[in-house]
Amino acid sequence: ATPTAVMVATGIGANHGVLVKGGDALERAQNVNYVIFDKTGTLTQGKAVVTTAKVFSGMDLGDFLTLVASAEASSEHPLAKAVLEYAFHFHFFGKLPSSKDGLEQRKEQILSQWLLEAEDFSAVPGKGVQCLINEKKVLIGNRALMNENGVSVPPEAESFLVDLELNAKTGILVAYDSSFMGLMGIADPLKREAAVVVEGLKKMGIHPVMLTGDNWRTAQAVAKEVGIEDVRAEVMPAGKADVVRSLQKDGSIVAMVGDGINDSPALAAADVGMAIGGGTDIAIEAADYVLVRNNLEDVITAIDLSRKTFNRIR
Ligand code: ADP
Ligand code: MG
Repeated sequence: ATPTAVMVATGIGANHGVLVKGGDALERAQNVNYVIFDKTGTLTQGKAVVTTAKVFSGMDLGDFLTLVASAEASSEHPLAKAVLEYAFHFHFFGKLPSSKDGLEQRKEQILSQWLLEAEDFSAVPGKGVQCLINEKKVLIGNRALMNENGVSVPPEAESFLVDLELNAKTGILVAYDSSFMGLMGIADPLKREAAVVVEGLKKMGIHPVMLTGDNWRTAQAVAKEVGIEDVRAEVMPAGKADVVRSLQKDGSIVAMVGDGINDSPALAAADVGMAIGGGTDIAIEAADYVLVRNNLEDVITAIDLSRKTFNRIR
């Protein structure tokens, strides 16, 4: 393609909300044979909602929710936002002004008065969060987080968790002072176009893959809904780029689509990195493409644009 053709294609992309950083990336997209999708926030809406909270320790449900919300208040994860929202509604439903503006304004103020003080907060990448509340350790996250801290999950809680996971929900486990307290189930619906895009890629001869830090059962349930057979689950943030490289070893051209900080090494390692608009700045920086509309159809638009530009004018 001539420089003019590349310029024209870049302009057409931009008009559709597909921003490409340079002619090389535009050219590489035509040959993609794998598209790897991050799950949370990429295939799914990233608008997580708590669907269940269950205490297994005799702790009062209200106290349980306060504990969890206090620990998650410092986390940026979409799961944390869902937990806070749920706890807030549990405690304050019916006691708040009906005007939305008033509510949004008062929320922060109310939350700050009501949350417990969390000290030494830290995020454990791919696993959850930890902190101290009332000088006792709080752990919130997946099984791996519980295991590595020696917290045993009782069998009835484990079977409840498995049930959630088989229904495409993410379960988060809560321990206080080394004892298991309870769990919450969180749903994060697929983007409405996700399944159509996956089907479209298959028709183009491209192999879709789902890549996530979430557990196998949840990942497989979501993959089934969206029509993806190739799933890589329980991948730690550092491992996402390795998955890209392992596919490249066979000579494949790999596109990665993601939104999170976790995804940025994989976006950089991919032949074609595509960041979802509205995703984190670090992901956007690492990518070759930015899909401004946050619509997965633009993955196909980007590949089509490259194919057209480089086949027609060669
Ligand atoms: P993904 O690749 O799907 O974006 P992450 O690597 O961000 O997943 O997280 C992997 C898993 O770690 C989550 O599914 C969840 O079980 C746990 N986790 C991460 N952050 C949190 C948090 N703030 N609260 C509870 N659990 C968390
Ligand atoms: Mg994500």
